[in-house]
Amino acid sequence: MKVLVIAAHPDDVELLCAGTLGLLSRAGHELWLAHMTVGDKGGQQPPDELARIRGEEALRAARVLGAETFGGICGDLELYAIEQHARRIGEILGEVEPDVVMTHPSNDYHPDHRVTSLLVRDGVAAAAAQPAVLYMDTVAGIEFVPELYCDVTETVELKKEMLRCHVSQVQWMATYRHTDMEYLIEWTGRSRGLQCGYRYAEGFRLERAVGRPDVSRSLLESMSLVEAGRGR
Ligand SMILES: [Zn+2]
Repeated sequence: MKVLVIAAHPDDVELLCAGTLGLLSRAGHELWLAHMTVGDKGGQQPPDELARIRGEEALRAARVLGAETFGGICGDLELYAIEQHARRIGEILGEVEPDVVMTHPSNDYHPDHRVTSLLVRDGVAAAAAQPAVLYMDTVAGIEFVPELYCDVTETVELKKEMLRCHVSQVQWMATYRHTDMEYLIEWTGRSRGLQCGYRYAEGFRLERAVGRPDVSRSLLESMSLVEAGRGR
C-alpha cells in the first residue's frame, strides 16, 4: 500500500501521525511525506537560513521512517488556495498515486493547516486515481473527535526520535512559545490512548465526500486502525 501525508509545515507529521507511520513502515508499506511550506517563520534565524535548516531536519526525520519526501514550495503563512499551490498538490498526487492520503482537518488552528486541508481535499476530488483521505488530529486535539484510532504504543519512541530531528523547532517552541513538543506528543498520545483503551494512540477521521468512498475494513485493518469504541 502507498501512503502519502501532505502536511503544512516540516514538523507536523512528527506531532500528528508519525506513530501510525512507524507501524506502516514496519509492515513494509511505501511512505511519502510532503510539506507545503518551508517553515521559514518558525524561529529566530533569517528566513532563508531557517528554511534550509528545517528542510534538512525534515529529511533527517523522514529517513528514520524510510520515507520519500517532497519539500515546501512557499513561506509560512503564504499558502493560499491558488492555482500554483493546487497544481503542486496535483503533481504530488499524480507522482505517488497513493492508496491513502493523510492531511490536516479543515478546522485546525493554523491558517497553513487549514489551506493544506482544502487543497488536498479538492486535489483528491480532481485526481485521476482516488485515494482514501484520512484527517489527522488537530494540534493538542482541540475541536477534533477521532472516529478511528491507531495503537502507537510500540512506536511512540520512534515518533519522539523523529521529533528530535527538528532541533531548531523544538528549541524555538520551548524558548519562545512555552511549548515542550515532546510533552505534547506524550500528552496527546496518552489522551487519545485513554479514549480507546490503548496506552498511546493517534486519532483520525475519514473524509466521506471525496476520495475513494469504499474504504474497506481490510484497508483500515492493514493500517492498524480501529473504529472508536472497538479498542481493547
Ligand atoms: Zn504546522
